[in-house]
Amino acid sequence: MFGRVSVLSIDRIRTITVIGAGTMGHGIAHVAALAGFDVRLFDALAGAAQAGVDRIAKNLAKGVELGKVAGDARDAALARIRANDSLGDALTGADCVIEAVPERLELKRELFAAADRDAPAHALLATNTSSLPVGEIASAVRDGSRVVGMHFFNPVHVMKLVEVVRHRGSGEDAVALAVALAEKLGKTPITVADSPGFASSRLGIVLGLEAMRMVEQGVASAADIDTAMKLGYGHPMGPLELTDLVGLDVRLGIADYLAGALGPAFTPPQVLRDLVAAGKLGKKTGEGFYRWSPDGKKLG
Ligand code: NAD
Repeated sequence: MFGRVSVLSIDRIRTITVIGAGTMGHGIAHVAALAGFDVRLFDALAGAAQAGVDRIAKNLAKGVELGKVAGDARDAALARIRANDSLGDALTGADCVIEAVPERLELKRELFAAADRDAPAHALLATNTSSLPVGEIASAVRDGSRVVGMHFFNPVHVMKLVEVVRHRGSGEDAVALAVALAEKLGKTPITVADSPGFASSRLGIVLGLEAMRMVEQGVASAADIDTAMKLGYGHPMGPLELTDLVGLDVRLGIADYLAGALGPAFTPPQVLRDLVAAGKLGKKTGEGFYRWSPDGKKLG
């Protein structure tokens, strides 16, 4: 029997390890370093962790330019981040591990088993999954009470919400730590049960899928549908532009999973499958429902 070890209190957390240095992982590393934590950023793809650090440097430079980040805070944050090409090294000594690898249950379970093996027993283990059952990820860990969801939003250094997801076996101490950590990262946490799509993905995906069906049926152009939601409902961004930002592959994965878990309202439209099959994944590949310049500007 594996003994229950409490996670640390927020004031004793020093080192945060982020697994996966893509869209979300580099953003989580950014806010963690800026909040004063030592950060280790690991990615399985050679060079991707360093590329993540380079993206953080670019975003912090922009923050300095806009007067949102002080120059010395930027320098200190960058000095606190280490790109790791070894998962074992990244996990050793971590007080908190946040996983941001692609939305595949088996992959996430493998990484949580590795974190269980190589990270200290007191470490909080958090997944940034948008929709997968946190309880099933937690069952790859001997003591699942230290596992929670911490669902950040894209772009992480801008968006204020974190959904803290409590699965049935989450410890109260782990949930409280995740809430405190989100606050320390400058975010507003909400706590939700481990139910398919949590609060945000379940609602957001339905809107996105319906917008895609409307494009498919020729009801209006992508740009006009987005304008309708921005000017008619006060959304800061339309559902199709948001899909391009999130990644069409990411949204397809979530929709497929929610269709199985919650029913046909979540069935992905053919246009989404076709665009993903054609490699048009949104901003990150230069085309989705819109075209994007290499430096990330929407071209129309
Ligand atoms: P992404 O594809 O941009 O990045 C994933 C990274 O993980 C890649 O750099 C990849 O090389 C790396 N990776 C793959 N296998 C790995 C492994 N075994 N070990 C370490 N790294 C590995 O994906 P993303 O958009 O950052 O999504 C990551 C997670 O965050 C997913 O669970 C997704 O559902 C969730 N999420 C995404 C968004 C979004 O807007 N993109 C928002 C909230 C949550």
